[in-house]
Amino acid sequence: METIKCHLCGSNKKLQKSHVWPKFAFKRFAADQNRGGRFADLSLGRVSNIQCTRNWFCCDCEKIFSISEMYVANLCYKIIRLSHQSYPYNKLLLRFAVSLSWRAAKYFQEMNNDFFIEWDQSKSYKIWKKYLLERKDNVDPYTIHLFVLKDQIKFPHTALGGFIDRENSLLLTQIGPMFFVSLMKPNILTHDEMIIWNKSKISHRGGTLEVICRLTNSTNMPYINNMTPKLQGTFLRLEETVRRAASSGNWPGSN
Ligand SMILES: [Zn+2]
Repeated sequence: METIKCHLCGSNKKLQKSHVWPKFAFKRFAADQNRGGRFADLSLGRVSNIQCTRNWFCCDCEKIFSISEMYVANLCYKIIRLSHQSYPYNKLLLRFAVSLSWRAAKYFQEMNNDFFIEWDQSKSYKIWKKYLLERKDNVDPYTIHLFVLKDQIKFPHTALGGFIDRENSLLLTQIGPMFFVSLMKPNILTHDEMIIWNKSKISHRGGTLEVICRLTNSTNMPYINNMTPKLQGTFLRLEETVRRAASSGNWPGSN
């Protein structure tokens, strides 16, 4: 453990070793656990067994993260186990989504990814951080959107990590069947695009998640699955990344 400033609350405390992508996701979705686990790492674009950890947060901040993480782990297992078309969620889902996207963006920044190199100066960084510190009750306009995708042929649950769509300024993070998409530059969206995006927004008050069983390949059909044609294009690129990652190793397939 190191004693330096916690990246969230700023206190000088012992920092904990914590997972960038939650431990439960690795435990539940990485294949071949008895041989160390394997998953398609979306951030690296290859099959990996390395659980990414960083000493970023103090014990108190970790505790705050773990409450929403436990909630989402249970919700995620329920989605896998059951075949309902929709699932209710509460305010903890947005808390988890913001902590996940915030950690993913910090990870890419540390990797010197040019999309995130100046990110801690940006408005989204400040708004997400204020929200996590409970100094703000929502993250508008830097909203996070969730697509529950049970299409395991195109998007196996054994992929994990973050994916940047530069063209559309989106940050996507996959945890099993849950695909969290963050709007990093909401000001580039048209009025019509914003109307569609609002349908998938994770509300700070809670709401209902709809399950997508099969993702269409057509980018000519607006409004389908609450996705703009551009976002459908993002998922096509993600599918290609997963395929490329899979070809880098002995792909464990879907679980
Ligand atoms: Zn802290």
